Amino acid sequence: MGAGVANALSQAGISVILVDKGDFASGTSSKSSKLIHGGLRYLAQGRIGLTRSLLNERNYLVKHTRAVKEEAFDILVGRNQFGKLSIRLGLILYGLLGGGKPSRFKKNDGLYPDEVDGYFTYADCVTDDSYLTILNVVSAHQNGAICLNYVSCLGMEKKEKGITAKLQDILTGDVFDVDSSIIINCAGAWITSLLPEALLDSKSIRMSKGIHLIYSRNAFSGDHAVAFKSPIDGRQMFVIPREKVVIIGTTDTFTDSPSDLTVKPDERDYVIKSCSFVSRLFSSVSPIGEYAGIRTL
Ligand SMILES: Cc1cc2nc3c(=O)[nH]c(=O)nc-3n(C[C@H](O)[C@H](O)[C@H](O)COP(=O)(O)OP(=O)(O)OC[C@H]3O[C@@H](n4cnc5c(N)ncnc54)[C@H](O)[C@@H]3O)c2cc1C
Repeated sequence: MGAGVANALSQAGISVILVDKGDFASGTSSKSSKLIHGGLRYLAQGRIGLTRSLLNERNYLVKHTRAVKEEAFDILVGRNQFGKLSIRLGLILYGLLGGGKPSRFKKNDGLYPDEVDGYFTYADCVTDDSYLTILNVVSAHQNGAICLNYVSCLGMEKKEKGITAKLQDILTGDVFDVDSSIIINCAGAWITSLLPEALLDSKSIRMSKGIHLIYSRNAFSGDHAVAFKSPIDGRQMFVIPREKVVIIGTTDTFTDSPSDLTVKPDERDYVIKSCSFVSRLFSSVSPIGEYAGIRTL
């Protein structure tokens, strides 16, 4: 988020310093499902305005950056999957809001398990989240922003005019002050470590962990990404082919630490068992990689 904000502000001619205590995109912004979508589930919740603005952003990004690409998604319909009528209506509205083509129902011709009646194929977008972040940093730099990684913000102090940030160069240990008019706290899951005591309310900010597993591309024979419900608990899951790999996920479990980034055996088992519904190979071959990210709620 910080990279995007720095890019937008510097484009508007505002002088900006962007700092990150680690590598740019080393936080959640390299650990997402890598989807750029309007969120069909927001439509199901009746949040039409939110879906419209997310689809506008998606359409802007796909037009203006090579880091965001269109991808075909199959959404599965069946007794324990999504409902045919609700998805048909949802996709009509999604298409109207986002300018997509209408999607037709296709009968399951053996591509998916027998319990699946069929599927709708619709277009959405995917990205490489770290690459998108770095493109924003590069663009901010070209607009004149000062972009410093391995510089940590230790704290902030309100002054009569503006606000001062205490920064530390992680590599040399040097500490220095920067005076500014505004500081935007984009510290993601670490946001509370930079909030003044008075604003700290542990109940208002919660964290949720999501894990993904990466398989070699031949663990999944389909050409499209797949959105479906876990046969274990009915949660929405994704199988997303990406060039030479396929990414599957994800989970949603509360955590109390932004550093809780290990993939636990029960989390791994849940994702494998859920996604084996779409391809049995996810159970019989081992993942070649895995990652966890933290959502700030
Ligand atoms: C499992 C999962 C799947 C997701 N899938 C999607 C998806 O498909 N599509 C989508 O749009 N969104 C998705 N999201 C949400 C999205 O990834 C996040 O909203 C986004 O990455 C948050 O960005 P951020 O900049 O707020 O946080 P981060 O990317 O975590 O950035 C925060 C940065 O702050 C730095 N920092 C922390 N403390 C300090 C300090 N004191 N000084 C200096 N720097 C500091 C950190 O090093 C870090 O780089 C997903 C999230 C999760 C967890």
